[in-house]
Amino acid sequence: MAGISWHYVLKFIITGDAAVGKSSLLVRLTDQRFLANPDPTLGVEFGSKLVTIPEENKIVKLQCWDTAGTESFRSITRSYYRGAAGCLLVYDVTNRTTFENCRTWLADVREHADPHLTCILVGNKVDLCSSEDGSRRREVPTEEAERFAQEEDLLFVEASAKSGENVQDAFERATRDILTKIERGV
Ligand code: GDP
Repeated sequence: MAGISWHYVLKFIITGDAAVGKSSLLVRLTDQRFLANPDPTLGVEFGSKLVTIPEENKIVKLQCWDTAGTESFRSITRSYYRGAAGCLLVYDVTNRTTFENCRTWLADVREHADPHLTCILVGNKVDLCSSEDGSRRREVPTEEAERFAQEEDLLFVEASAKSGENVQDAFERATRDILTKIERGV
C-alpha cells in the first residue's frame, strides 16, 4: 500500500504450546484466511499488518513473530524477545494442558522480555465450543482463565483463528494498551 505511513512500529511475539493455533492466528490477522491442515514443520515465522486505533488517531504497524515450531525444544532465545512490545500467550480452550503450560510460558516471557511488555492471554479455538454439542469439548472455563489473567496482570480474550472471532481485536486491545504506556512515558 504505497503512500500509507504509520505512527509506530510495534513488535509482537506469539507464544504457547505447539498446535494451539499460533501460526493460524498470525495468518488470520495478516491474510484473513484459515488453513485447516497447515504443515506443522513449516510454521509461519513472520507477518506484518497495519492497524488503525481510531481513539488515538494512530496507524500502527504490527510486526508479529511466531515461534514457528521451535516451542517443542523450549529453545526460544533472547533475540526472539528482544524489542517486543506485545505478546500473545496462546492456549487451546479444548486442551487443559495447554492452559496449564501458560504459567511456564509466562515465566519465560517475564525472564527474557522487557518488563513493560503487554501480554494478552488468548484462549483459541473457541469455535469448537460454540454448538450445544461442542460445549462438552471445552476444558478451560472462561472464568478460570479470566482469574489467571487478573492475577498475572494480563489482558484476556477468547478467540478463533478459524472463524476470525476476536483475532484482530486481540491485537488491537494489546496495541491500545501499549500506546497508553508509550504516551505515559513507560
Ligand atoms: P501452532 O503450532 O500453535 O502454530 O498451531 P497451528 O496454527 O499450526 O494450528 C494447529 C492446528 O489447529 C491446525 O490443524 C489448525 O488448523 C488448527 N486450528 C488453529 N486454530 C484453530 C481454531 O481457531 N479453531 C479450530 N477449530 N482449529 C484451529
